Amino acid sequence: SEVRLRATGLTKFFGATRALDGVDVGVKAGEALAIMGPSGSGKSTLLLALAGIERPDAGSVIYRPDGGPEVDVAALPDRERSRLRRGDFGFVFQQGLLIPELTAEENVALPLMVTGASRQAATATARDWLGRLGLAGMEGRRMGELSGGQAQRVAIARAQAGGSTVTFADEPTGALDSATSREVMDLLLESTVGRGAALVLVTHDPQVAARCDRTLSLRDGRVEHQFFRNPSTGQQ
Ligand code: ADP
Ligand code: ADP
Repeated sequence: SEVRLRATGLTKFFGATRALDGVDVGVKAGEALAIMGPSGSGKSTLLLALAGIERPDAGSVIYRPDGGPEVDVAALPDRERSRLRRGDFGFVFQQGLLIPELTAEENVALPLMVTGASRQAATATARDWLGRLGLAGMEGRRMGELSGGQAQRVAIARAQAGGSTVTFADEPTGALDSATSREVMDLLLESTVGRGAALVLVTHDPQVAARCDRTLSLRDGRVEHQFFRNPSTGQQ
């Protein structure tokens, strides 16, 4: 299938620290890519660079939208980059995206209204996605009243409701016990690759990575290993 995002020669310095050192990676539509590696190996920096949040010092990130011309995310003007981040890209990050004072439904509907949907349309879409993620009946709960797994499902609904073609997830199961982690991964995969979107996630958990089509393992800002899942065995 079609390549959605392709990074070539990604390099990023923070002062004298080379956080990324010539990383090449691609992800296709309908494919899940896991990024692993020890702390400080460049995982977050890679995720943020692929998403057009962190600007690399060298290299390119080519994004190919459905039916549109390809763009170099790394070279886009800020305005265009933020437009991509509000439309084609969805984010499941542990902190900062969900507003604790708002309900589950409001958290999912808000970004849709920001990009122009009416309150009524945004609310209908939010309810639909919360239902798909098994949260029917909990739409009116504030985030603080939800468990960790439920809050992660709201975050997934929020990332999908705008119809994103690439979802970026930073440790989506990091704070969850293993049963809840499996459940959240099932829902994350189903709501992204299950509808033909790409998923890029950072994880420390080999069991989470094993559910992805491909695992990239970083060390000192370089790709140390890459594992592909064998389609016949389902194992990497
Ligand atoms: P990981 O996600 O694998 O833990 P990071 O991408 O966060 O790794 O960091 C890679 C390296 O770059 C580390 O040495 C980290 O300290 C450094 N780094 C990351 N972000 C910044 C920043 N904003 N300022 C300075 N150094 C940073
Ligand atoms: P995570 O736990 O998600 O890997 P990090 O600790 O890597 O988060 O980074 C959290 C934030 O701090 C990011 O915005 C990152 O760019 C920044 N950061 C990471 N390392 C450093 C550093 N050494 N100096 C300054 N900022 C950093």
